[in-house]
Amino acid sequence: MQQRRPGFPVRMPLPTSGQRPSPGLGVKPAPLSGVPVPAGLGLDSAAVRTRMVQRLSSMGIAAPQVLQAMAKVERHRFVDTGLVNQAYEDTSLPIGLGQTISKPSIVARMAELLLGAEAVRATGGLGRVLEIGTGCGYQAAVLSHLAREVYSMERLRGLHDKARDNLRPLRLANVHLLFGDGMAGFPKGAPYAAIVSAAGGATLPDAWCDQLAVGGRLVAPFAREDGQQVLLVVDKTVHGLKQTVLETVHFVPLKSGVA
Ligand code: SAH
Repeated sequence: MQQRRPGFPVRMPLPTSGQRPSPGLGVKPAPLSGVPVPAGLGLDSAAVRTRMVQRLSSMGIAAPQVLQAMAKVERHRFVDTGLVNQAYEDTSLPIGLGQTISKPSIVARMAELLLGAEAVRATGGLGRVLEIGTGCGYQAAVLSHLAREVYSMERLRGLHDKARDNLRPLRLANVHLLFGDGMAGFPKGAPYAAIVSAAGGATLPDAWCDQLAVGGRLVAPFAREDGQQVLLVVDKTVHGLKQTVLETVHFVPLKSGVA
């Protein structure tokens, strides 16, 4: 059964004279006739998200499209009721089945890296993207504002269904959720301008590089021999694959098969 998501924040301040409680998510409280709304009453999710975006900007995220996409997607819709108050903190949160929603700064960081693909410069936009690890669907929603089409794969049926429920009300026509082992990629949608993985293993599946377009970019966590996970960027050029190792990251493991 689909769970109803609470509004944000969960506990609204009690109305005092001249104020009404916010009628719902993202809706500014209407002033009672003739009574101005006192400053500070508009603490709805848009305001909290704006602060999150300002923080992302101060952390070095510069692409305006990415900041706009992060401002659009209501992250609190993707987490469980009890975690709604933490939805706009820069932290990963449990989403069930031992998995986590990535923290906003890493979602924004990976999105910005995808926009750096040669294919984006050549065509003026991000075409088809393959995401491995749908989880709760948050990153897929962010990517939907940046890419022409988003194919997102999840190996856990429970999370695939959860993402479907979370995304349904957003009516993002360019997001395609797929249940299956992302290690095999999704050949039917290939070639991809970008592939992004939210789960990391010790090897990069060949299927990902095969399904990447020339000019395309892959961004994925990768476990080095010393066990440290790092963010890896692979650019597919006419001359072959070019790898760049970036900062240390902490993603859930990439697993094979479905469950
Ligand atoms: N992008 C997600 C993050 C989810 S965490 C979000 O915004 O919430 C990473 C997800 O990768 C987990 O749900 C995990 O089940 C999934 N995963 C791990 N290995 C996978 C594989 N081989 N194919 C598809 N999904 C995989």
